[in-house]
Amino acid sequence: MTPPHVLAFRGQDRAERRPGTRASGWAHFTFTSLASLGVIVFAIARVERVRLLEALVVPSTFLFANLVEYLVHRGPMHRRKKLLPILYERHTLRHHRFFTHEAMACESAADFSIVLFPPVMLLVVLGGVALPVALLLFAVATPNAGWLFVATAMGYFLTYEWLHFAYHLPERSRLARSHLVRALRERHALHHDLGRMAHENFNITFPLCDWLFGTLARKHNDA
Ligand SMILES: [Zn+2]
Ligand SMILES: [Zn+2]
Repeated sequence: MTPPHVLAFRGQDRAERRPGTRASGWAHFTFTSLASLGVIVFAIARVERVRLLEALVVPSTFLFANLVEYLVHRGPMHRRKKLLPILYERHTLRHHRFFTHEAMACESAADFSIVLFPPVMLLVVLGGVALPVALLLFAVATPNAGWLFVATAMGYFLTYEWLHFAYHLPERSRLARSHLVRALRERHALHHDLGRMAHENFNITFPLCDWLFGTLARKHNDA
């Protein structure tokens, strides 16, 4: 049952934003998916004869991305900072009031924009992170290392978007019922408890850093 305070916030949020439609929700999801996949395929197509040291870029990038995900979520997304207060506003004041542990699912595709990053975020990740680091790797390492970084970073970004999207689908949907998604979704639902959101389960994808920094909560142990 959706609590009254969530219903009230959803009504107010929908009235204030440009009315989203089911079609615009699916267009948003399709754009995020296809643009990210396009960059990943473009980068992988440029990799040839990978050496072992170059291949290490993939797990290193994955671990680095997991740390960034954790720190940004634990930091500016949950604590208002002078720099980029929009992260706090979009996440704590909006995403967490629109979805709580008692009401995790979108009611229609028109709500997808409360889950997915705005499309401009793709340009930020691509132009602000993937490209500069890739250029650095081109210069100090090899082109393979640069392209593998781009492919892994964009792959991580898309995994974040797809998993977070799956957590906020109705529980009966096929994707949300898969074993892996169910387990990860349960952790994210704990994070959506307003009393816990600033303290636990900051990894949206795989809870490596939560485990490392002691902020991992599991329903049965900690409830
Ligand atoms: Zn969420
Ligand atoms: Zn959060």
